[in-house]
Amino acid sequence: MKSGDTRSVAQHIEALRREIDEHNHRYYVLDEPVVSDAEYDRLMKELSALEEAHPDLITPDSPTQRVGAAPLAAFDSVRHAVVMRSLNNAFEADEVRAFDRRNAEGLAAAGLLPSEGGVEYMAELKFDGLAVSLRYEAGQLVRAATRGDGQTGEDITANVRTIRSVPLRLKGSEVPDVLEVRGEVLMTRKDFERLNETQQKRGDKVFVNPRNAAAGSLRQLDPRITASRPLRFFAYGWGEIRVRRDGQVDLFRQEAGDAEMPRPTHSDMLDWFAELGLPVNDLRRRLKGADELLAFYEDIGARRSSLPFEIDGVVYKVNQLAAQDVLGYVARAPRYAVAHKFPAQEETTLVEDIGVQVGRTGALTPVARLQPVFVGGVTVTNATLHNEDEVRRKDVRIGDTVIVRRAGDVIPEVVASIPALRPDDAREFRMPESCPVCGSAVERLEDEAASRCTGGLFCAAQRKQSLTHAASRKALDIEGLGEKLVDQLVDSGRVKSLADLFTLTALELAAYERMGRKSAENLMRAIEEARKPALERLLYALGIRHVGETTARDVSAHFGSLDAIMAASEEDLLAVRDVGPVVAASIRRFFDEPHNREIIAALQKAGVEPVHQAVARQGKQPLAGKTLVLTGTLPNWSRDEATRHIMAAGGKVSGSVSRKTAYVVAGEEAGSKLEKAESLGVTVIDEAKLRALLGRE
Ligand code: NAD
Repeated sequence: MKSGDTRSVAQHIEALRREIDEHNHRYYVLDEPVVSDAEYDRLMKELSALEEAHPDLITPDSPTQRVGAAPLAAFDSVRHAVVMRSLNNAFEADEVRAFDRRNAEGLAAAGLLPSEGGVEYMAELKFDGLAVSLRYEAGQLVRAATRGDGQTGEDITANVRTIRSVPLRLKGSEVPDVLEVRGEVLMTRKDFERLNETQQKRGDKVFVNPRNAAAGSLRQLDPRITASRPLRFFAYGWGEIRVRRDGQVDLFRQEAGDAEMPRPTHSDMLDWFAELGLPVNDLRRRLKGADELLAFYEDIGARRSSLPFEIDGVVYKVNQLAAQDVLGYVARAPRYAVAHKFPAQEETTLVEDIGVQVGRTGALTPVARLQPVFVGGVTVTNATLHNEDEVRRKDVRIGDTVIVRRAGDVIPEVVASIPALRPDDAREFRMPESCPVCGSAVERLEDEAASRCTGGLFCAAQRKQSLTHAASRKALDIEGLGEKLVDQLVDSGRVKSLADLFTLTALELAAYERMGRKSAENLMRAIEEARKPALERLLYALGIRHVGETTARDVSAHFGSLDAIMAASEEDLLAVRDVGPVVAASIRRFFDEPHNREIIAALQKAGVEPVHQAVARQGKQPLAGKTLVLTGTLPNWSRDEATRHIMAAGGKVSGSVSRKTAYVVAGEEAGSKLEKAESLGVTVIDEAKLRALLGRE
């Protein structure tokens, strides 16, 4: 290699080191990372590879040789009696096999032949929190420290004492003289979400993820704040141990080659910790050979999203402590263990633009257009930002670098922006004043988070989505009417409303793109079948805001016909089970809208006739279609009881008297409603007469 190349490699290595050091400082000291863990891991991998190819360029201060970052001066520092190390990573199955092979060879060379079935391991979860060391003397918790740079950590004793799962005193009569327990402090997902909600309400800093929240909570100068944060702890390792044996105190430091720990295997040690009252996670297994390790990885991976806390992988540790000693350590990590990482669920990328999408009910949703990024197993190019408030809360601007998360099957989301990386020309998002699809005005109601296009079904975006909704399985179930065809039907101007669907012909349909004669005929058949829908399906298909399947079913069962529903006042609607004022008002508003009434008239004209539910109940509905008004106190029935009986008989109960009222049921101290009934000539009856009408004398 020419000297010029060497210099540029050296420069490249130096630049990488500086960049990684900066990330370490932000992550470990400030708790404010600016790149995803995956990006950090890539930088580290690149540096390791370069150093491997040029071992002469390795320096002791390279991040590949060291752990974490120097502790924050605001805390007292603690020198660890036994250094706290990191773990080497594996990302691929091949790396795990190579790890197992190296162990087997290393042990064989030392005369410690692996047992049948291969090297024995303890497989554990890799908790995504932060490492701490707890020092117990004569069973009492005397000191707790962060890992820091591995040699020296921060004294966080007062903070750790507030974590409920950390025992202040070890259990049992035979506690060791000294026990330094190493483990992870973390926050569950639920606790993290709750904490962020509170933080947000108070206008305090919200945390990017549970690890960040745990680190920020533990490294507080005021332990009262830590006490208010729901932190947990799991033990997975140890530092110094002194145990009294035969009246003498023995010091165990595995580092120094002490194979004779109080228990012979790593799993025995963890069992011992559990006996001492320390929290040890149950999802740990003794396994043999690479195949079993990889099966464990698969199994835990499948359960990852249902665990109450986040993990970023699993850890395999050679189980025999004597074998661990033989394998020893490299610079910053043991050779006998490896962290097998799961694919990243968070990545950083650029927001190229923020567009808006118009939904079925006209809601305008801001959507971040992202520089494509591979996260959680897919390439993500768009992520919803929900609404304007959310954009402000997360302070996402066009040009920003953001953290994008995709966990399991959950839709990708923008977790946070990274203001530290914001370019000068980053632009704030503004909700457009007119709909980007139809140009109608956009309004935002005071009590709503969403801004809406006021174009209603005039808006092609709303029209398309409302047609897709109407055709969906739980609505009119028109198979074969997919989004692509809806787009064509609306864009060509042929279908302006739901009613137009029912005037289509097979010949016309066959002319559309990707529509053969056969599929056109099939679609016609599906449309034909949809001409006689159950009332509840039609009601749901109309896409009235707040009317989901259940409400549609309840309202249909209550009123029995579309005419009755259209005629119902808000008060009438309130009598339906589970219908509150918001739903009642929304239904009323929908049917008051002349345009919607026109569509319904057109549907009827096109022969769409819902199957009325009252028909099914005929014979048991003496008050079907009749509206009654209750006034005064009835002798036996409460107002609720009377209402229930009337409704069960197919009648409706209204709060006001009109010419359409069939009967006013008057009890004692009846007021103005009775007078109104008399003036309008409406029949007034008493409870006894009502019972007679109901056949309940
Ligand atoms: P690591 O997190 O990859 O592995 C070592 C750590 O794993 C231990 O210190 C311990 O805290 C933890 N751990 C969890 N479960 C364990 C178990 N069962 N047994 C043993 N240890 C267990 O290594 P690291 O040196 O702590 O940090 C490096 C990682 O931190 C990176 O891979 C990256 O994910 C993240 N990081 C990110 C940034 C950033 O800017 N985004 C910066 C620095 C580090």
